[in-house]
Amino acid sequence: MNSHYDVVIIGGGMVGASLAVALKNTKLNIAVIEPYPISSGEIEREEKLYQPSYDARSTALSWGSRLIYQQLGLWQKLSLHATPIKKIHVSDRGRFGATRLDADSYRVEALGYVVPNEWIGKTLVSGLNSHGNIDFICPAKVEGITRTESATCITLSKRNDETGDYDLAEETVTADLVVIADGGRSETCQKLGIEMQTHSYGQHALVTNVTTSKHHGYEAFERFTESGPMAMLPLGAADNSAKNTALNPTDSRCALVWTLPEDQVEDVMAMSDSEFMALLQDRFGYRLGQIEQVGVRHHYPLKLSQSAEQVRAGIVVVGNAAHALHPVAGQGYNLALRGVLSLAELIVKAANQDEPIGSLTVLQRYIEDRYVDQDKTILFSDKITRLFGDTNTGVGLLRDMGLIGLDILPGAKRFFARQAMGLGGSEAKIL
Ligand SMILES: Cc1cc2nc3c(=O)[nH]c(=O)nc-3n(C[C@H](O)[C@H](O)[C@H](O)COP(=O)(O)OP(=O)(O)OC[C@H]3O[C@@H](n4cnc5c(N)ncnc54)[C@H](O)[C@@H]3O)c2cc1C
Repeated sequence: MNSHYDVVIIGGGMVGASLAVALKNTKLNIAVIEPYPISSGEIEREEKLYQPSYDARSTALSWGSRLIYQQLGLWQKLSLHATPIKKIHVSDRGRFGATRLDADSYRVEALGYVVPNEWIGKTLVSGLNSHGNIDFICPAKVEGITRTESATCITLSKRNDETGDYDLAEETVTADLVVIADGGRSETCQKLGIEMQTHSYGQHALVTNVTTSKHHGYEAFERFTESGPMAMLPLGAADNSAKNTALNPTDSRCALVWTLPEDQVEDVMAMSDSEFMALLQDRFGYRLGQIEQVGVRHHYPLKLSQSAEQVRAGIVVVGNAAHALHPVAGQGYNLALRGVLSLAELIVKAANQDEPIGSLTVLQRYIEDRYVDQDKTILFSDKITRLFGDTNTGVGLLRDMGLIGLDILPGAKRFFARQAMGLGGSEAKIL
């Protein structure tokens, strides 16, 4: 561990670790500080050390995120456990509106990919360990942060392997630029007085994996029900090397993300597996046949939160610490990853031109580059959630008209597809 770094990244979750990978092989000295013991791709499974970023969930990576990971040299490894989403079916339970997106219409291999978070974590961390310009300071926590005129100073605590406690370290670390990537409840932002503006959706996301009698055919289902939207994402092995993806009839699992009102979630969590499967079958219908098996259930409170500031001299806030979105449209991580790439390119360019990477002038460019994509994506995700969460009959009709409109208006459908593919805010000329 050095006492001074060009860049210190607080949080080695999916966003912080992706930024570190994007900055490897540069002349910059980087440190990543992460409290949970992760080494050589091995993620500890002790309950006590539950790592929030690389848990049992899966993430729908957009086509745009695949392109980013390709650029970072990680896609080949990530794709080993990536299930392609060839089609997306959007419907409203008990109503007639529905729309479909198909990868073939947009001349891409897939609209996106579903990857278990644990595999994303292993891939990212093994990419970090093999590089010399990155110090992975782990398990260690940031306890204090102060800004002087020329650098940001960080106080650390390190995990004591015997007691499991975090003891205050004697060394402090300084950096030209500190990137805060410590998640939606960012303690570092709180320490700096950076406020979060939060809107609670009054909902929880219940997450689990389910096995169905009918193969998903690499189709994702977004379904809106009275109790909240649900997404069934395809999981399981696929032959990604072949264009004609061979279906594996023995692996017909899906990752379920089901939003439920706050006051119902505990009851649904307490159900036996068979009660839960019956309820899910009723809400989801029989598009995938019979629901045969269900895994361990987890749930997460849902909110839209945005930090009041994303840059200060010597400081940038990224990922969930900057913006946490409702998960049903699968946009949060994809948005953050676009930010990671933009920030990495900006830092490297500034360093190559001998500009101070922590100066507000340089960091303002990051915000200028990102705000259109952020505004558009947050608005899209928030509007969809509110529109499809409303049980009012008039709103239901509007939804039907919207879904039918999407199906018949190429412009509207293209917009929807670009957003789903993570290309909404980019200039990529793929569609
Ligand atoms: C149910 C659900 C499903 C989702 N599905 C999708 C999807 O399909 N597609 C999509 O794009 N997005 C999805 N998201 C959003 C996605 O999970 C987040 O965008 C992503 O996890 C944000 O990662 P992060 O690294 O910013 O934060 P986190 O994952 O919270 O990681 C923060 C890291 O900081 C570390 N940390 C905490 N405190 C400190 C400290 N004091 N010092 C140092 N380090 C610290 C933590 O240990 C952790 O490793 C989903 C979210 C939910 C809740």
